[in-house]
This record gives sequence, structure tokens and C-alpha cells, in this order.
Amino acid sequence: MKLLIASGNAKKVVELRRLVAQAGLSLDVVGLADEPPYEEPAEDGDTFEANALIKARAGTAVTGLPTLADDSGIEVDVLNKMPGVRSARWAGPGASDTDNLELLLRQIADVEPARRRGRFVCAMALVRPNGTEEVLRRTMEGVVIDAPRGGNGFGYDPIFVTDGHSVTNAELSPDEKDAVSHRGQAVRAMLPLLARLEEQS
Ligand code: IMP
Repeated sequence: MKLLIASGNAKKVVELRRLVAQAGLSLDVVGLADEPPYEEPAEDGDTFEANALIKARAGTAVTGLPTLADDSGIEVDVLNKMPGVRSARWAGPGASDTDNLELLLRQIADVEPARRRGRFVCAMALVRPNGTEEVLRRTMEGVVIDAPRGGNGFGYDPIFVTDGHSVTNAELSPDEKDAVSHRGQAVRAMLPLLARLEEQS
């Protein structure tokens, strides 16, 4: 049975395929690049869950396949949980990861270390062709430091230190990050639902 990952990000598709295989599931995981192109809907929801569902519903509606989609970002407590769903475009449309991260650092430049708490959030949605849907959220709590460190990862990883670690996310290896990350946790939480999908087919 095919499972569509409603993402054009090849890395996410490869990662999902690996995790599904590791879990012993025989789902054929495909990404948007493997299916005939369709116009992706605007991610204009107010919550991570809403955006994940928008993407997954569109995938199922167009392809007829069970579809998994995620939406993620960073929340900073002193910024009222922003950037939130605006994480990818925090410094404006077309902003780079560096632009976004530097703007965030400037916005909390005078905030003392103890008050720089925040979290990465990942909402993951599964929509089935029969119309039933599930959505779940997982987080990675930590602090935003005052200058970037490390070359791994992406986005805000160089300025975030996860609780229980002394290095930034960008100084963790990909496997170390997957083991604790919001996205890694969300995928692992989805695996039992994906296993049932296989049984139902
Ligand atoms: P998306 O869900 O892939 O669209 O990601 C939204 C944005 O949130 C990204 O562009 C990053 O800025 C940020 N983000 C999400 N997950 C991570 C992460 O694991 N590390 C660093 N930044 C992240």
C-alpha cells in the first residue's frame, strides 16, 4: 500500500521511508515529487495542527492515497509563543534561515538566560481516503542562546539548546537530534497508526 508524504522536502521523505522500514512496515512511502504535480494549498491555519491537516487533506483529495503531513516551528515564551506557525517566514517572505534566526536573536537580545525558554513543535496529520483523520503534536523544550553554534541541522537549530544537553541542536548528530526532536517523536507516535493502515488494506 502507498503512503503519500505531502512534502516537497526530499529529506523528510527519505527520513520517513527509513523510519517506516525500521518499524517493519511494508508501506510504499512516496513524496510529492513522485506523484503528478498539484497546486499545494496555502498554509494559512492559525495552528500547527490546522496547517498539517490542510496539507494532508489536499494530498488525499488529489491522489486518493492515505497522506501524512507535518507542520513545525519554534515558539519562544517571551514572544508570546511566536514565531510559531510563522517560523519559516519570520523575517519576511523569502527570508533565509539566517535572516529568521538573526531577527529572533535581536528581538530577545536583552532577555536574561532564565527567561529565554521555548520549544520546537511538530504537528503531524494522517488523513485516510475514507475521510478519517488523526493529528498529534510533539515538542522539544529548551532555551534560545544568544549566538549561533554548530553546522548541522537547519532553521533555528544553531541557537537552540534542548533540555538535558549542553550543545545546540546544530552540534548534535542527525541521529542524536532524531532521538529527541519534535519531528522524531511525532513520527514514532504515528507508527502504530501507520501499521493499522497496512492491516486495513
Ligand atoms: P516546516 O514545517 O518544514 O515548514 O518548517 C517550518 C520552519 O520551522 C522551518 O523553516 C524552520 O525555520 C523551523 N523549524 C522546524 N523544525 C525545525 C528544526 O528541527 N530545527 C530548526 N528549525 C526548525
